[in-house]
Amino acid sequence: MVEDLAIVIVDDMQYSRAVLRTTLNRIGYTDVRMAASASEALVMMSDRRAEVVLADWVMPEMNGLELTAEIRRKDEQRSHYTGIILFTGKEGDEAMMEAFRHGVDDYLTKPVNQIQLAARLFAAGRVARLQNKVLETSAALSATNHQLEFLSTTDPLTGLPNRRAMDKRMEAAIMETCSRGGALCLGILDVDHFKRINDLHGHDVGDEVLILIARRMRLALRPMDMVARMGGEEFALVAHFHKSEKCDPAIFERVRQTISDEPIPIPEGGITVTASIGVCCYQHGEEMPTIQTMTRLADQNLYRAKSEGRNRVVG
Ligand code: GH3
Ligand code: MG
Ligand code: MG
Repeated sequence: MVEDLAIVIVDDMQYSRAVLRTTLNRIGYTDVRMAASASEALVMMSDRRAEVVLADWVMPEMNGLELTAEIRRKDEQRSHYTGIILFTGKEGDEAMMEAFRHGVDDYLTKPVNQIQLAARLFAAGRVARLQNKVLETSAALSATNHQLEFLSTTDPLTGLPNRRAMDKRMEAAIMETCSRGGALCLGILDVDHFKRINDLHGHDVGDEVLILIARRMRLALRPMDMVARMGGEEFALVAHFHKSEKCDPAIFERVRQTISDEPIPIPEGGITVTASIGVCCYQHGEEMPTIQTMTRLADQNLYRAKSEGRNRVVG
């Protein structure tokens, strides 16, 4: 018993198709579709994929080699592999080489010998199955990698980038500012008296407040700026300015205001939340800083913002 394969026969001669199908049925293949032309075969295969195609070389309109090129192109798009065996009355090494150069997997001369056909079909089917298994596995692996990359750079509570993602962005932004110009501003934002919110309303409400603050910050910034959660109720705001040589601290003032302007809705009503922001800027032409030195300076300014009464930006 052979393992069944999804086979498509392409031949413009009805008689040849019928003979071939009978032969395939006799060998034990049952999933055999027949097409009278290359274009009909392509429609058939976009409807349902084939594992092996048995095609005549010489056909009107699109010949077997052109069909092979089209199948390879379509396979590439949908990450599939179709085994292709070409039949021909042409003889000789040159014809065989031409067929292989065009991407066929195998080649049989007419009249087709039944034993030869069975053996070649078995091999072509096995190669196609293996190839498709590899394609499936690599697609699954790349989806998993994508997911892992997402999980390792995202804060699960707020959906914001996490500290690891922020470090990566800062590193790139420092390099860009150093080599191409502009200015880079880092703001470290800490929610004021956040512990009180947890103490008064519970940790779940505290979580909800963090999510809503994250959303407000995101809306207050430009799409190219980054808001990341550093941890706890501390966030990093990274803004790069391409054209102007100077940082625009207004961006941080806008973030501070968006957080405190409107009370944050919680089940018991609304609570007014404020935040303090410490800023550090690096301008093109200055000595290139490290992420650590910029973070330390922003932290020092945050400490000042706290000690000067909170709910303010110090830069
Ligand atoms: P300050 O104005 O000086 O920043 O005061 P604060 O109360 O905000 O600062 P403190 O560092 O004392 O408290 C921060 C609190 O944030 C303590 C911690 O329990 C809480 N916290 C940290 N992470 C989370 C979280 O993921 N969810 C919730 N609900 N609370 C968190
Ligand atoms: Mg804190
Ligand atoms: Mg705080």
